[in-house]
Amino acid sequence: LGSSLQDAIKKLVSSGRIDEKTVNDVVKDIQRALLQSDVNVKMVMTMSKHIKERALKEEVPKGMNPREHVIRIVYQELTSIIGKGTDIPLKPQKIMMIGLQGSGKTTTTSKLARYFQKKGLRPAVICADTFRPGAYQQLKTLCERLNVAFYGEEGNEDAVGIVKRGLKEFEKYDIKIIDTAGRHALEKDLIKEMEDIHAICDPDYKLLVLDAAIGQQASEQARAFNESIGISGVIITKLDGTAKGGGALSAVSETNSSIAFIGTGETPEDLEKFEPDRFISRLLGMGDIKTLLEKAEESLDKDELDMEAMMKGRFTLKDMYKQMEALNKMGPMKQIMQMLPLGGLGAKIPEDAYQVTGDKLTRYRIIMDSMTEEEMLNPRLIGSSRIKRISRGSGNSPEDVRELLKYHKMMQNAMKGMRGGKFNMQKIMKKMGM
Ligand code: GDP
Ligand code: MG
Repeated sequence: LGSSLQDAIKKLVSSGRIDEKTVNDVVKDIQRALLQSDVNVKMVMTMSKHIKERALKEEVPKGMNPREHVIRIVYQELTSIIGKGTDIPLKPQKIMMIGLQGSGKTTTTSKLARYFQKKGLRPAVICADTFRPGAYQQLKTLCERLNVAFYGEEGNEDAVGIVKRGLKEFEKYDIKIIDTAGRHALEKDLIKEMEDIHAICDPDYKLLVLDAAIGQQASEQARAFNESIGISGVIITKLDGTAKGGGALSAVSETNSSIAFIGTGETPEDLEKFEPDRFISRLLGMGDIKTLLEKAEESLDKDELDMEAMMKGRFTLKDMYKQMEALNKMGPMKQIMQMLPLGGLGAKIPEDAYQVTGDKLTRYRIIMDSMTEEEMLNPRLIGSSRIKRISRGSGNSPEDVRELLKYHKMMQNAMKGMRGGKFNMQKIMKKMGM
């Protein structure tokens, strides 16, 4: 199927111009792919109408061929439904998990606890599932393995009372995650229980957990939960399987929320921040739409080092990491530096900048994993309290974090120093046979 879509798009390229028949062919293939991914029929129809209209009506942007034009429109239409994703901030808060039995609430609860723990916040988990036998033990075991605080009362059926006491016990913790019970189907008593728990804990986030294999029932579930307590974000689990999670889109549009995370396995580490590009590629059965889009936008590959921006002084921690990675791959740094037309700059770069070892890379990556996007883009934000949080989250000492920040500053200054010299990194790498 994916290949038939690619064939259709290829047809569009070779035809070299936009006509109704080719657009219809591509749209038909896109429809088929989306329906097979469980996307709601009505949604698919509305979207294809927009795509057709826009593809034929809108002027092909300068520098773009017809094929790139249509791909861009498909992508934009899907993005407008899916959204950019919910970003759950790193701050003290309460999170309530909601969903039917078997959707993955309990597993995801432990994944979220692990996620916040890695970011240096203190999570605590409350088991409010008094319905399913073994629920208490399942969550307790998961938490013990992660060294995460756990509260539950085995044998007690009063979920609301448990939440109340758990919250009291966990006053000092940053993140309180409340795992709730599900049923096999939406039943009145389940909704009532969610409302009661909601009233007592007043959560900052109410996350609806959906199995990727859920089809059109997603929208009914989402509506019912949304009408009773409101849904602030969706987590799609089991995306490591064959299901593509298209049903979850109905839940997203039904609740006006967006996807926060995806689950990609059974271990606590298998939680990923939602990335619309990857999700869309999957839905369409296309290899990698991001690569296509980047070509379409004729932009530089954003993963490459942007030497020009770096020399202007915009040198983030992410840039630094990419640079270290590249240097590590290239081998002897000194040799490379000598090939750069930098004049006498070589002398200004401290000796340890040349030593990019695998160990250092790994340590820096782990530390950076505990930072927020904002911190990586603007390391100046990182003061002593953030250093503490990051070191706790990454399991490194505050000195290690400071070392990384110092290294960054050093490299930043070195980059600024290169400003005058114009050179092309790609050319240099080619010259070296890479
Ligand atoms: P709950 O009833 O909603 O609490 O669901 P559980 O958390 O107990 O999960 C039900 C089953 O799904 C368990 O066997 C989990 O291991 C499995 N599961 C949950 N999330 C994922 C995931 O992202 N990938 C895979 N492969 N399995 C998952
Ligand atoms: Mg459970």
